[in-house]
Amino acid sequence: MKPFDPATRVQDTLVFGEYGDVNPSITDSSTYTFLRPETKEELFEHEIEGCFLYSRHWNPTNKVLADALARMEDGEGAVVTSSGMAAITTTLLLHCGAGDEIVAGRTVYGGTYALMKNLLPRFGITTRFVNITDHAAVRAAITPRTKVLYCESISNPLLEVSDLPKLAAIASAAGVRLVVDNTFSPMILSPLRLGAHAVVHSMTKFINGTSDCVAGCVVSDHATVAALMDITSGPAMLFGPTLDAFRAASILKNLHSLHVRLRKHAENALELARRMAAAGLRVYYPGLPDHPQHRLLMQMMNPGYGYGGMLVLDVENGARAGRLMQRMQEEKVGYLAVSLGYFKTLFSAPGHSTSSEIPVEEQRRMGLSDGLVRFSVGLDQDIDRTWAAIERSLRAVDVLPLGALARPCP
Ligand code: PLP
Repeated sequence: MKPFDPATRVQDTLVFGEYGDVNPSITDSSTYTFLRPETKEELFEHEIEGCFLYSRHWNPTNKVLADALARMEDGEGAVVTSSGMAAITTTLLLHCGAGDEIVAGRTVYGGTYALMKNLLPRFGITTRFVNITDHAAVRAAITPRTKVLYCESISNPLLEVSDLPKLAAIASAAGVRLVVDNTFSPMILSPLRLGAHAVVHSMTKFINGTSDCVAGCVVSDHATVAALMDITSGPAMLFGPTLDAFRAASILKNLHSLHVRLRKHAENALELARRMAAAGLRVYYPGLPDHPQHRLLMQMMNPGYGYGGMLVLDVENGARAGRLMQRMQEEKVGYLAVSLGYFKTLFSAPGHSTSSEIPVEEQRRMGLSDGLVRFSVGLDQDIDRTWAAIERSLRAVDVLPLGALARPCP
């Protein structure tokens, strides 16, 4: 059997514009006319193929992007949203109400952690955070009130890989939904094919790839998508996190080069990770054979996209991490900035930025050291030149002794 190929699925999304344009036309309207009032009434009751009511509900341009994402993730449908957090929030609020519980991986993105820990309890929804690689702990945390098991396919920032088939089996046995944030590994992993019920993405990251907008999506089955967008009860309809159609059109264009970008991100990240490891540095990258879930990732991944563009270096203390990042920016390795998936390298210290919502004691329990520097490796043409600049920076802040530089690269 041919392996599943998300890039070919995206490529086969052929939509003509109004005049046969190679890009679908952008619908620049919030509302739509009806030739007969009855059709409008009918549309309030159920969807009618090709008919649109109001752009907070569906906009044709958003629908084209949503359909392409559904194909990429092998889902039945998708909803696009104005941010990744909107995708996560609407999905959780679809499945959970007052008195319900979520079981979530403890190393999730800081914003997701803060949503679950601080905001959702105000609506009566509580979360138990667990080590998602400890399946006995996951099972033990599920109660009759649990509605959602939530994890990141490759976690932020420690790059732990979730065993999606095992988590899906645990979720199904308990009658709860497995929701997977696949932001770090679009195309590389296909969580729905591995048993997840819904996939969320921050499209702000790799999917868009140009760090010029914030956007998100949820991919799932027909019933979930319809429930999210239900006119009278759907969270995506009623909270109103609508993506602008112009932005949907630009993200769709970028989606078509995602597979090419991912390969280069991964090739460069693997090269840097190997060199860091060979220099005796503590580096986390799921493409390195000594990463605890390297074999698991190999079993689950779609072939041909690599191990992702994210790597984490531990330089032991926060002050040193800060100096290193400043120096790397001066050396033009990339930008000291949060976020990821950009064509240039971005680096940040997760403990002080994207994971800062997580209390310090909790960060230590997760293994999140103060000296972590998270790299989103860019599309650099000459990775030797990039490594030379990183090496100079490491030496300047005393992470690498002079002698280490003399070692040959693997
Ligand atoms: N999920 C992950 C893994 C993230 O890294 C982020 C943002 O950094 C989000 C979700 C939230 O996405 P957004 O910033 O698009 O709302």
